Amino acid sequence: MSDINETEGLKAPDPVDFENYDDAGGGGQKIVLPPRGVYSLLPTEPPKVGKTKDGYLQVELTPLELIPPGTPWEVQKINYTRVNTKKWPNKNANGFADYLRSHGYDGKPTSNEEYQGAAEALVGHPAQAVVDWEAYCKECRYTLKGMEKFPKNEDGTYEQRVKCPNCSTAENPKWIFANARVVAFVPPGK
Ligand SMILES: [Zn+2]
Repeated sequence: MSDINETEGLKAPDPVDFENYDDAGGGGQKIVLPPRGVYSLLPTEPPKVGKTKDGYLQVELTPLELIPPGTPWEVQKINYTRVNTKKWPNKNANGFADYLRSHGYDGKPTSNEEYQGAAEALVGHPAQAVVDWEAYCKECRYTLKGMEKFPKNEDGTYEQRVKCPNCSTAENPKWIFANARVVAFVPPGK
């Protein structure tokens, strides 16, 4: 072994957290998104209370932890999920109650306090949701929803990025990246 002290200006190694080492091909910077499907999601913090533009109680569920069912992707946090108490058009249901019921909750809330109390009581209990991919261009607001609309790789998986059709030129592609998003909360076992 040569004497490393003879190498001038040699820096000490950058510190590495070997307990959480990013092996090549593993996680690290490149987050592998779960394919579209139904997953268990764990609310880990009390929901943030707000209201919709038209005045309904709305909560932001952030973050929801996707519980990996023995799969290669890591625990992922899904942010910016909002539900409110306004009825879906032509449906005897609303997004907030969908969320509560996806936990197996069988209460019948009628007031904002009851909805809010139920959501707080369900922190730490898994919900069930359809999760899909979504990419958003901050510059032109172009949105692509749905994993199957992303470019397909040769191995049958989908590329987790897409060129913004409005902001890309032939020489200069503007890439936008997919995130996992909740499409709908569904009752357990569905
Ligand atoms: Zn764009």
